[in-house]
Amino acid sequence: MLEAADMQIDIPLTRDLVLIGGGHAHALVMRRWGMKPLPGARLTVINPGPTAPYTGMLPGHVAGHYSRDDLDIDLVRLARFCGARLIDGAVDALDADARVMHIEGWGDLKYDVASLDVGITAEMPEIEGFADHGTGAKPLGQYANRWRAFLRAVEVGDTAPEVAVIGGGVAGVELSLAMAHALRNVSKRPVITVLEAADQTTGTGPKARARLMQAMDALGVTLRTGAQVERIAADHVALLDGSRIAAAFTVASAGARPHAWIADTGLPLENGFVRVTETLSVEGYDTLFAVGDCAHLTHAPRPKAGVFAVREAPILHDNLRAVLTGGKMRAFHPQKHYLKLISLGGKSALAERGGLTVSGPLLWRWKDHIDRSFMDKLTDLPAMPAPRLPAVRALGGDTAKPLCAGCGSKIAGDSLAQALTVLPPRARADVLSRPGDDAAILAHGARKQVMTTDHLRAFTADPVTLTRIAAVHALGDIWAMGASPQAALSSVTLPRMSRTLQARTLAEVLRTASEVMHAAGADLVGGHSTMGSETVIGFSLTGLCDGDPIGHDGAQPGDALILTRPIGTGVILAAEMAGQARGTNVQAMLRRMGTPQGDAAAILSGAQAMTDVTGFGLAGHLLAICKSSGVGAQIVLDAVPVYDGALDLSAAGHFSSLHADNLRSAPVTYHDPQDPKFALLHDPQTAGGLLAAVPANQADFLIERLCAAGHVAARIGRFTDDAPRIVCA
Ligand SMILES: Cc1cc2nc3c(=O)[nH]c(=O)nc-3n(C[C@H](O)[C@H](O)[C@H](O)COP(=O)(O)OP(=O)(O)OC[C@H]3O[C@@H](n4cnc5c(N)ncnc54)[C@H](O)[C@@H]3O)c2cc1C
Repeated sequence: MLEAADMQIDIPLTRDLVLIGGGHAHALVMRRWGMKPLPGARLTVINPGPTAPYTGMLPGHVAGHYSRDDLDIDLVRLARFCGARLIDGAVDALDADARVMHIEGWGDLKYDVASLDVGITAEMPEIEGFADHGTGAKPLGQYANRWRAFLRAVEVGDTAPEVAVIGGGVAGVELSLAMAHALRNVSKRPVITVLEAADQTTGTGPKARARLMQAMDALGVTLRTGAQVERIAADHVALLDGSRIAAAFTVASAGARPHAWIADTGLPLENGFVRVTETLSVEGYDTLFAVGDCAHLTHAPRPKAGVFAVREAPILHDNLRAVLTGGKMRAFHPQKHYLKLISLGGKSALAERGGLTVSGPLLWRWKDHIDRSFMDKLTDLPAMPAPRLPAVRALGGDTAKPLCAGCGSKIAGDSLAQALTVLPPRARADVLSRPGDDAAILAHGARKQVMTTDHLRAFTADPVTLTRIAAVHALGDIWAMGASPQAALSSVTLPRMSRTLQARTLAEVLRTASEVMHAAGADLVGGHSTMGSETVIGFSLTGLCDGDPIGHDGAQPGDALILTRPIGTGVILAAEMAGQARGTNVQAMLRRMGTPQGDAAAILSGAQAMTDVTGFGLAGHLLAICKSSGVGAQIVLDAVPVYDGALDLSAAGHFSSLHADNLRSAPVTYHDPQDPKFALLHDPQTAGGLLAAVPANQADFLIERLCAAGHVAARIGRFTDDAPRIVCA
């Protein structure tokens, strides 16, 4: 008999919770949510990019003590941990009465409960020349990237080591010290000026101020008080009093500025910041919350500091659950005094709390410890209980490894081949398909029609990303045959959900599918939808050919082998599912997987043989061409493009569920079978590249055109007059 705990209770999804921004408070909420998800609630997180930088370590990064990775909170990993879908985008409008937001370049997203944690901006577009020559200390990512580029330019003598910081608050001073420290390593005479409108630095008590001034003196940082900036130029900042401050790099850190779009939301605001009550809900709205720098605590106003965003997280988490479950909310009572730990350029820091000020290297070590512990909390996520094998089970069922998704869960090639033998010979004269074709070929008047079907088990919680990739994946069969996409039917299985959520999700799926199909020249003409145990999205497609479709059987010895896309999706998706892949790599790969390849197919329209690389991996699909064409193939392993991160993950032992079957079905001769790159030849690909046999003398020209069109195409080998087998060099 099943134990009660073993039984799956399939309750429907009924509420959409949307976290806008991956700020510190939301990152911590995601961690808590992952440890105790709320059944029935679907969590979405929206952030521009796969990471959110942790400000506490930014000065250390600028000074050169931390790598960029050290301060990036990996939201992809956190999203996997808490079962959230992550949308790479920025919200630019919100209607809290209609409970709908708009995401730039993405569209409208409806919600039941939402929270804002989008921080502030330090940009000063009102200053002439800022857009061309200024950089805000926030957004952090942009500042960190520009700073690295500037430092390199100084190092090679391309630019003057002159920096101006607008704003003499704690952040501006801390950044000036960090930049001075880093510049002294690459230049003998750096010039750093802090421009402050008041008559002294701000944000600390007198003792800390004196200590900061000492540190600035020691690193040659000049403070210019009473400074009113008029204009920023490429090599200086012009002040209203007519003076010019030499600066080839100008950073703005002059107080907290709210994001401009918030002003148009109609929400209650205080100087542009969203007014919230003690429960952190926006005044007048029980289902919208705001936290961190973008919020104004009406009951207890506080300066903008990360410490409050961090302290708000547990209250926000509990209140989100309360409003989703009909429970009672808690109040947030911020502390009056908080510890300021300010780094002083080198590995030394100053601590101030109340009137007490201490400084020295020990304080830096303490700050380093606090900052790293914070990051560790968001990186080393608690291991979730591993699925257990049932104590008594049928023989042979000895794997507890979760099944991969996408093409990683395809039926093994040899099982499929065996099953196909039961089919009777084709009876109709207008069915022209040849063995191994990517799509069926039908006689259609003077033209030929090709027909295919494909579906993907969800590898991402985002139906939009999944739909886009599933559409591109299915179109691959049509493009590989040199056909023009004609019509598509969608097949959609969604998890059990309320009617409201069904309508929202289906609208997203169909909008995305129709966009991709329309851009490919096909009409989305219908489909079928159902609810099931997990999300599966697929398409059946037809395409038209004026001449004969490109098949697998035309490759000639001597032809060059072209691949239009990197390999490694299987290994990265498997590792991502286990929370082990880098978010930046995952998001870059998903973006490439969702990029159509119709233009690549057009460039390769003269190919002798072509296929798209999918579940059976590069080796499996290449062997299919070899067998149909009666040729051998030689792959140059070094020339095969792989997705960033795939090699390391392969070396670390990650592989997809289908890998072993692929290895068995398409053996490849190679001197080092343990080589992690070699393993990728059998990695199942989802929305993989086109693999084409082209006359050798055309290969370079075609690759040039493919790369110019934005594809990561490469010549990866050649066909030989060997028997149908693959040798790797
Ligand atoms: C140099 C410097 C040093 C600092 N040091 C400290 C310190 O040591 N201690 C301290 O307490 N405070 C410090 N601060 C202040 C601290 O940075 C902020 O208070 C803290 O980051 C606020 O966190 P948050 O949760 O509001 O959001 P943030 O950390 O600002 O994150 C906001 C997130 O929202 C995303 N986002 C922005 N717009 C949108 C949008 N439209 N849609 C979706 N997502 C969006 C951003 O990409 C970002 O990931 C420092 C600030 C600076 C500039």
